[in-house]
Amino acid sequence: MMPDPAPFLVPVDDRQIRAERAKARELRRSAWWKNKRSQGRCHYCGADVGAAALTMDHKVPIIRGGRTTRGNVVPACKPCNDDKKHRLPSEWAPQERG
Ligand SMILES: [Zn+2]
Repeated sequence: MMPDPAPFLVPVDDRQIRAERAKARELRRSAWWKNKRSQGRCHYCGADVGAAALTMDHKVPIIRGGRTTRGNVVPACKPCNDDKKHRLPSEWAPQERG
């Protein structure tokens, strides 16, 4: 029998999800994030896509119990973010891009 490919680590309620998303909106406006994003490079695949094309990705997704902290968010290109979705870094590997 195959193990569940995406076990939820902790139950996450709507209130926590909303709170973490609100924190993410705030963190996106911070100088720390703008500086990180200005490097223009995807944390996962290393593609140099430019600051405007980078999204904020939670390494441990909010829905999996991840928090919006500087240690848990990285700039990611849209293809990586879309591809990773709600997986943990240990469950997913970026494709080579560009
Ligand atoms: Zn990428």
